[in-house]
Amino acid sequence: MASLNGKQIANLKMEKIAKEGKVLKRGEHIHTWRPRYFILFEDGTLVGYKTKPANPGADFLNIFSVKGSQITKKNFSGKPGFTLRCLQIDAYVDRNFQLEEDSDRDEWCMQIERIGSKVSAQARIADTTNPDDMSQFTDPSKTKSKITLEDFELLKVLGKGTFGTVMLSKEKSSGEIFAIKVISKEMIIEKDEIKHTLTENKVLQQTKHPFLTGLKYSFQTKDKLCFVMEYVNGGELFFHLSRERRFSEDRSRFYSGEITLGLEYLHSHKIIYRDLKLENLLLDQEGHIKLTDFGLCKQDIAYGDTTSTFCGTPEYLAPEVIEDDSYGLCVDWWSLGVVLYEMICGRLPFYHQDHDLLFEVILTKPVRFPHDISGKAMSVLEGLLRKDPSQRLGGGKDGPAEVKSHPFFASIDWEKLFNKEIDPPFKPKIKSVTDVSYFDTEFTSENPQKTLAAAPVSTSMGNKMENTFPDFTFVDKDSQLK
Ligand code: AMP
Repeated sequence: MASLNGKQIANLKMEKIAKEGKVLKRGEHIHTWRPRYFILFEDGTLVGYKTKPANPGADFLNIFSVKGSQITKKNFSGKPGFTLRCLQIDAYVDRNFQLEEDSDRDEWCMQIERIGSKVSAQARIADTTNPDDMSQFTDPSKTKSKITLEDFELLKVLGKGTFGTVMLSKEKSSGEIFAIKVISKEMIIEKDEIKHTLTENKVLQQTKHPFLTGLKYSFQTKDKLCFVMEYVNGGELFFHLSRERRFSEDRSRFYSGEITLGLEYLHSHKIIYRDLKLENLLLDQEGHIKLTDFGLCKQDIAYGDTTSTFCGTPEYLAPEVIEDDSYGLCVDWWSLGVVLYEMICGRLPFYHQDHDLLFEVILTKPVRFPHDISGKAMSVLEGLLRKDPSQRLGGGKDGPAEVKSHPFFASIDWEKLFNKEIDPPFKPKIKSVTDVSYFDTEFTSENPQKTLAAAPVSTSMGNKMENTFPDFTFVDKDSQLK
């Protein structure tokens, strides 16, 4: 469990308590109800504990601010409750609470609303489109122009993600090849993922990093949001690792080094990647890493609606995420540990077919290593896969610098790596710019036009969809896709 530092404890101790008491809180990742004790302080800090604490600064499980939050009264299986939506670093998180009595629920809602609205407009952080939040992603040099899907010839389906389909496309005017991600607005609105999608757009717009996928345009049609990205054609790392089973430590060091630089960049912009896994790591035609699919917080949409079963990719979840504790950038170092372990050892560090038992394993079991890995590899994996985030490699105040200076990476010249001056250990065999041989034929054999037309729009959603995504269009004026 986490503790606050001396100053934070002193601050909390001085703060008046607005409301406290027992609640049930639903897990954000595993949707079960857990008994908790929450204290709401007058400064807007809401702190959750397992039981009533003797000292408000110690052993808390959750800590967040209700400033700028949105609160909605709900009933959960006939019991009174509420949902609190707050910003956590860069994405919205919904937290669900259940109470025994209507009166208790109403009191919590009244206090949270009162304190939440006390905050000045300046400090309000509930909108990812707010320039205060996203200033680092807003580049005034970007201009708008009318681009439509008609400007592209759709050549192949490359893959499908949670929301949309990614297609290989040719821009008719320039003949340039791109990957277009097409997301149905209806799906985004239904899943209430508007903010996350806008976040992804803002993140992608500003991202100019050698190991992160760049965005050329984004535009919308009546019913779809479209991201025109550079086409990364060397295939998923997952594909290559499945073929070779294990990578050498040198090869693993190269990929994990490039991933570390990508994460360092995102973290410096206060973005948690959250979903680092082999499938989201692509190789470009030279064999360098490209992280895709960042900016979308996906963990909340990976559940069945009515069960408490997790049905996403739980093998990569960090212990603090499973435990439902407050989490931070450090979850990405855990996932880096999982990915690096897979590359070096050829299997997942924690695995069980049954998800509940898998979570148990992640939370309690020490990681085990094959006998043939080097001491440095074992040490970096042990560091990244430390269960307590504050003890984890990358979890200290130096963050990425801690990871980069680990002896496992001693042979890497980070500047050269960033400048792509180190030859990749493997070069994909690409026959042409439109080569899709590294993509799954399950997708590439589909007819892209038919796939695009497959998601009809209900007319009742029409107006809402048109009005919900103002300001989405974007053109990268300098077109510096790296
Ligand atoms: P996503 O919706 O981002 O998870 O993408 C689904 C799949 O499409 C990925 O697993 C990749 O195989 C493929 N993909 C996504 N982005 C690109 C890209 N820029 N270039 C090539 N393939 C991509």
